[in-house]
Amino acid sequence: MKVKDGIVGLVVGDALGVPVEFKSRRELQINPVTGMRGHGTYDLPKGTWSDDSSLALATMQSIVNRGEIDYGDILSEFCLYARKGKHTQYGTFDYGYTTGAAIERFESGVEPLECGGTSGHEITNGSLMRILPWAFIDDVDYETVENACRITHGHELCRIACVLYIEIAKSMLADDLEISEHIERSCVKIKSRYAGFDWIESFDRIFDNDLDEVSSGFYVVETLECALHCLLTTSSYREAVLKAVRRTCGNILRIR
Ligand SMILES: [Mg+2]
Repeated sequence: MKVKDGIVGLVVGDALGVPVEFKSRRELQINPVTGMRGHGTYDLPKGTWSDDSSLALATMQSIVNRGEIDYGDILSEFCLYARKGKHTQYGTFDYGYTTGAAIERFESGVEPLECGGTSGHEITNGSLMRILPWAFIDDVDYETVENACRITHGHELCRIACVLYIEIAKSMLADDLEISEHIERSCVKIKSRYAGFDWIESFDRIFDNDLDEVSSGFYVVETLECALHCLLTTSSYREAVLKAVRRTCGNILRIR
């Protein structure tokens, strides 16, 4: 049941944001999202989900079909999404540069775990947004989550962001605590595991619970900060996802 709750929550939140993706914060202040709407950015029907959900569904399809973790097979499902519209309702309409580049590398014969980009402009949120299914695998270890990230996003920052996100999700699945407690105890583990890593200080605002003001762009740490800010400042799923979509991706303003 928790798997279904989590994935449906992901898909609904995604679909809520699709019509206003790339809209400015000013536009959203004038016309705030209050429920599911259609059309907008991509002119698609109400309830259309995006790459975030499609790639999560593709991941699940692969793991269920294969009965094991096969990164090449997961990337094959990503290719079917990108090229054939699999795991979509109305066809593929958008996916990120980093994910697209990884899919092209895979198609040209690059090994699955080498497909993810590692350059500075590929420290984006594409792997984070599709990583949730891994939280539902019992005893999934950090290396597996890093590999799940690495097939599209190879940068250390993306990998650590995914591991932290899964740690928080697993904490929420395991125990009934305040959101701040889930984050805090997950941060303790991540700080210990990745101590001394080059990029670990990028997570200091999360480690220090300094999330009153967050940005919302494509940079993976900003996205994680924004998601946690929305969780920390709301008290229901509905409030949290509505708050998140009002901080539409691509907006580089500092927000409160
Ligand atoms: Mg999307």
